[in-house]
Amino acid sequence: MKPLKLLALLLFSALTLQVSAQQKKYVMVIHGGAGTILKKNMSPEKEAAYIAVLTQALQAGYAEIKAGKTSMDAVEATIHIMENDPHFNAGKGAVFTHDGRNELDAAIMDGKTLMAGSVAGVTTIKNPISAARAVMEKSEHVMMVGTGAEQFAKEVGLEIVDPKYFWTKERWDGLQKAIKEDSTKAVLDHGNKKSELLGSKNHDYKFGTVGCVALDKAGNLAAGTSTGGMTNKKYGRVGDAPIIGAGTYCNNETAGISCTGWGEFYIRNVVAKTISDLMEYKSLSVAEASKIALDKVGKMGGDGGLIALDKKGNVAMPFNTEGMYRGTITDDGKVEVSIYK
Ligand code: ASP
Repeated sequence: MKPLKLLALLLFSALTLQVSAQQKKYVMVIHGGAGTILKKNMSPEKEAAYIAVLTQALQAGYAEIKAGKTSMDAVEATIHIMENDPHFNAGKGAVFTHDGRNELDAAIMDGKTLMAGSVAGVTTIKNPISAARAVMEKSEHVMMVGTGAEQFAKEVGLEIVDPKYFWTKERWDGLQKAIKEDSTKAVLDHGNKKSELLGSKNHDYKFGTVGCVALDKAGNLAAGTSTGGMTNKKYGRVGDAPIIGAGTYCNNETAGISCTGWGEFYIRNVVAKTISDLMEYKSLSVAEASKIALDKVGKMGGDGGLIALDKKGNVAMPFNTEGMYRGTITDDGKVEVSIYK
């Protein structure tokens, strides 16, 4: 080949490569909780089951987007899959409170209108993410809690279940273990003000919350989070997930964000809105803003992670734990799922 022809060919391939790298556009990102998730503690069957359901969840949302539905529809469809799967701490498979109940929290937000809805401490709504959406779309409020939220969900025709529906053996055993370890640790920690202030001394049985951010064909973002909260949580405790700006936030001008981790730290750092603010007022990228916000959580002693997606399809999935169930799908339908660091 003549040198000139070769040069032209090289230039052409370099350009094509650059264009395809630039065009990698994510349309959805999900998480299934962060925590001490180690490969050595995971059986191949369990790992395969997680990968399968994360993939299924991404594909369910992607089908909505491909069909021209909204990012809200995609988030709801995706989270339904994870709420209905006992592997996650959301819907069926939610963790137990100290009193042996399943009290669920969820939130959803529309990046185009900045409308939001959330429910907290609900015990009979099969899919709390749908109740959050109903609060946003069918009421004049943003947040409803407890029996009021349950009454509302019933009135708008959502599926109501017996609280027993949420019971799983794994989570029940997790509660017994947490109660035992907390009482042992309470003795060891006697007089340790810091741990008393933090409330739960046992913070590693809480993970498995689910979240999703989607970007639809019209360029609109939506974000949602659903959780059972933290194992052994006290009566009436509400985490960051249903608090708009803490665990969930979405704005077309910046990004959609869903957090997972030790909720008290996410609430005190207003993590999701901080990421949006850093992008809006400091012109930081979604990756830079997410890192700063999560570092703050870490410095204060909190652990967890988050997912964020901006309107251009850039994604960030930082976490400061051993692992985080997570996955993405690009506009060409390519799924990527990861668990460990
Ligand atoms: N952030 C949730 C909560 O504190 C728990 C989690 O994400 O695992 O309620």
